[in-house]
Amino acid sequence: MPIYRCESCGTLNRVPPERKGQRPKCGRCKNLVDISGLPQEVDDDGFDALLRDSPVPVLVDFWAPWCGPCHMASPIVEEMGEERAGDLLVVKVNTDEAKRVAGRFGIRSIPTFMIFRDGKEVARQSGVMQPPQMRKWIERAVG
Ligand SMILES: [Zn+2]
Repeated sequence: MPIYRCESCGTLNRVPPERKGQRPKCGRCKNLVDISGLPQEVDDDGFDALLRDSPVPVLVDFWAPWCGPCHMASPIVEEMGEERAGDLLVVKVNTDEAKRVAGRFGIRSIPTFMIFRDGKEVARQSGVMQPPQMRKWIERAVG
């Protein structure tokens, strides 16, 4: 069943496809759940919780505000998130702020993209990818 992250509290909500038109609310905090698939920003703790709990693969965009190529990649990452809404969670990690996560995965250049499945790294790619290339990369990693 499609999974969407509540941006307010980080809870992962299962939303049956037939309920998508009804402005679904978060099971924990009752705020509206964004089902657009657009990337959400997560911090160190949010990232750990997501990796621990997500039943669907997670794509992470490691970026920083001062990084030009990161801004070029941003709309492409958004496009991927919208395309795979519900079956892939796309999040952004600001490496200036989430230093613990960036350090743990040895992120040296940005943008770097990683895909995790069941909490484990299954793919990693640095540098801007165009949509067709990124789509293929995601399909190779998660099907
Ligand atoms: Zn919530």
